[in-house]
Amino acid sequence: MPVLCSSCGDKRAVLKRPKTGHSLCKACFFWAFEEEVHQTIVTANLFKHGEIVGIAASGGKDSTVLAHVMKLLNERFNYGLELMLLSVDEGISGYRDDSLETVKRNQQQYELPLKIVSYEELYGWTMDAIVKQVGRKNNCTFCGVFRRQALDRGALMLKVDKICTGHNADDIAETVVMNVLRGDIARLRRCTAISTASEGDGVVPRCKPLKYAYEKEIVLYAYFKKLDYFSTECIYSPNAYRGHARTFLKDLESVRPSSIMDIIHSGENLSVRDGVKMPVQGTCQRCGYISSQSLCKSCVLLEGLNRGLPKLGIGKHHRLHDKILIQQPFTEKEERKLKTVHF
Ligand code: SF4
Ligand code: ZN
Repeated sequence: MPVLCSSCGDKRAVLKRPKTGHSLCKACFFWAFEEEVHQTIVTANLFKHGEIVGIAASGGKDSTVLAHVMKLLNERFNYGLELMLLSVDEGISGYRDDSLETVKRNQQQYELPLKIVSYEELYGWTMDAIVKQVGRKNNCTFCGVFRRQALDRGALMLKVDKICTGHNADDIAETVVMNVLRGDIARLRRCTAISTASEGDGVVPRCKPLKYAYEKEIVLYAYFKKLDYFSTECIYSPNAYRGHARTFLKDLESVRPSSIMDIIHSGENLSVRDGVKMPVQGTCQRCGYISSQSLCKSCVLLEGLNRGLPKLGIGKHHRLHDKILIQQPFTEKEERKLKTVHF
C-alpha cells in the first residue's frame, strides 16, 4: 500500500526526509525545505531590504539550489534584495570550464547578472599551471586561499553588500571536525558562524543560508525540482584531509542521522577561555588584504609560485616573509628546502 505524506495526509509520499525521517510528498518537501531556509535567514537576520547580494555560484548542487531558493524566497517573502551570481574560474580544464557552462545556463534560467573572475586574470596562474608546478598534494591549499580572495575581489567589482555561499550543514560539521583534529582554535571558533562581518577593507561580509540544510536534502531538492547542475568532481580532488573527515561523518550519520546537527551545535556552543592566544588580524603589507602576518597567505603562495619555490606558502616560514618584503634574496639552503615537493 502506498505511504501517504505525513504532512498533508493527502498525496503519496515520495521520499523520507533524511533530517526528520518524515515521509513526504514532493510539494510538502519543497515547502518544508524552503521554509527552513527562510527561517534560517530571518532568525539570523542575514539580509536587509535593498541590499545587493552576490551568490557564489560554482554550477554544483549546493550553489545551484542556493541560487534557486534565494530567488524564490526573495520574491515570495519580498526580501527586497538585488541578487547576482558570482563565479570563480580556477582554470581547471575538463572541470571548471564545464561547470561554468552550467552557471551560464543558470544565469539565463534565473535571469540574474553574472560576474566571473579568474585566477589567471587575478594571479597570472591557472590551477592547471599550479598543479604542474606543485603537484597534487597541496593544490587545494593554493586553490582555497586564492578562491577566498577572488570572491572578495569579484564582490568588490560587482559592488555587492554581501556574498552568500552554498555551504551546507555537512560542510560545516566537516569543518568543525577538521579544526578539532588540527587543533585550530581560531578557525574552530569562527567556522560555525552563519555570517561574518567585514573584517577590513576589501573583505565583503559573507553568509551561509543553507547552514542547516543537509546535503542529502539538497540533492533531493535539486533532483525533484529538476535543477540544472554539474555533478562531476574536480579532477584534482580529493582534498585528502577533508575526505577523511567526510567519510568519518557519513559513517556517524548512518548510525545517528542527527550527528551532523549535533556537531554543528557543539561547535556553536564552544567558547574559548580568556587568555588563549589568538592571531591578531592586520593587513597584508603587499596587497592590503586581511592577514595576521606581514604578508597574506595569498601573496606568499604567489611569491612561491613566481619564484619556483612551491613550498614557501606550505607550512610555517614566517621568518622569510620579511626577506620577501625587503626583497632580500634567500640563502641557498633556504631555497633548497622550499623547492622539494613530494609528489
Ligand atoms: Fe580547487 Fe581542490 Fe576544490 Fe579542485 S578540489 S576546485 S583544486 S580546492
Ligand atoms: Zn597580500
